[in-house]
Amino acid sequence: MIGYFLQEKETFADRARYVLRQLARMMGVKMIEINDLVGPLPALDALLIYGRSMPSVKIELPIFFCAQADYDQAATLAPHDVRAIVTTEPDLPQKIINLFSGHIQPLQNSIYADEKSSQVMLSASENKIFCAVDILAACFYFLSLENERHATQRDQFDRFQRQFSPVGEQIYDNPTVDRYARLLRALLLRLAPNMRITPVWPDNRRFAVALSHDVDRIPTWTITKVRRVMRPQGSPYANPIVRSCRLLRSLSCPENWLGNFNYISALDRSYAAASTFFFVSRHRQALDPTYKMTSPWLRRGVATLQRRGCDIGLHGTIPSAGAGGLLQLEKEALESVVDREVLGNRQHYLCYSDATLQLWREAKIKYDSTLGFSDYIGYRCGTGFPFQMHDGDGQTPLLEIPLILMDTVLFLESKQHLAAADAWPVVERHLQEARANNGLLTINWHSSDLHPIDVNGYSLLYIKILNWTQENGGWLASLNQVYNWWTVR
Ligand SMILES: [Zn+2]
Repeated sequence: MIGYFLQEKETFADRARYVLRQLARMMGVKMIEINDLVGPLPALDALLIYGRSMPSVKIELPIFFCAQADYDQAATLAPHDVRAIVTTEPDLPQKIINLFSGHIQPLQNSIYADEKSSQVMLSASENKIFCAVDILAACFYFLSLENERHATQRDQFDRFQRQFSPVGEQIYDNPTVDRYARLLRALLLRLAPNMRITPVWPDNRRFAVALSHDVDRIPTWTITKVRRVMRPQGSPYANPIVRSCRLLRSLSCPENWLGNFNYISALDRSYAAASTFFFVSRHRQALDPTYKMTSPWLRRGVATLQRRGCDIGLHGTIPSAGAGGLLQLEKEALESVVDREVLGNRQHYLCYSDATLQLWREAKIKYDSTLGFSDYIGYRCGTGFPFQMHDGDGQTPLLEIPLILMDTVLFLESKQHLAAADAWPVVERHLQEARANNGLLTINWHSSDLHPIDVNGYSLLYIKILNWTQENGGWLASLNQVYNWWTVR
């Protein structure tokens, strides 16, 4: 067990406790707060001290000292140049982003140095590690969405996008919080090799991939999509005759007109997995999906999903992310169709504004998976792990399972517009990142784009993700399974 001691009991202490609670779960390390360094300490493997200077009192324990920065002052220094720091050691994350730092006197061995200034940011002696990077402030900055609060720009749906970031959008390229968690665990293990680590995922799996499908429309094929797959550019089927034959087969396959629920749930089963389907239960504005949950054939589709262990979440409408009272009604309408409690939500169009967190809480949503970017891949919360959301004042009970990778972001002309073959290296990089951090990668493949007799290679790419995860010892899970594991663990 690791003790932590917060020198500063006033301004940042609650936020530091919040961050340490999230990090402890990501690391699989038990942590308790120590209020006084004078007198006998409980049996600890090591002590993490967070503050402005190393205490003068003698402590007979390995110590990780993390220098505290002036958070409120530093957090408003925008826009500024984000610095990357690089490691000298192979088992630590290659690069992390340094947004906040305090002052330390480096010890003998440099572990991390600033990429630009070469200043030593992390150093070690036999039983001490000194860290000038304020890990807790940086994690809080990401998890509390502080950067978004400083950004003044929003798009036409009142959404924050990564290019609006006052400190540059590259901070969202990598899961900085997850890399800090990995770094901190590795350094604590160096100080206390016998420290107990509890498994982060069931059956001690190395990482997890959460599978989800927004149900935005029921038929697979539209005129636009038919035109798109007939173009030779980026198609896995270069021969136009082969391509046309495949399209005709796909168009005549009934499953492609019925939502692909049978196909996707059978696919999940063949990997001993399950996934979460997000359905809308209301149509409130022109861009909301138009299908009706009460139609008999959609009820049959839902019954198939439930029978095969998939779960049903709420796909909140666009207006419900901004106006009070709507989401609660949508959740109740969906629950009356699926005949069980709906735990999770993801807003259609990934709509999220300053008001939305409170609306989720009022609708008694247990977990959400909206927080990703609608037009680019990225770690909007600095993490792929589940975490309890912070509303700026304090921790809330709502668990966020951030969305990292979405099919439409990869493929659409208006977004990254990648052919399936070009998208794989992008996807693989994020899988490798999750594996390296014992992390979670949540993906969203729209149900209307995951179908039998694929013509553009997008469904095959999804299957490639399932294969890679299984081959690399990952856990394929639905969002309900991730939620249940994270809350009972
Ligand atoms: Zn949607």
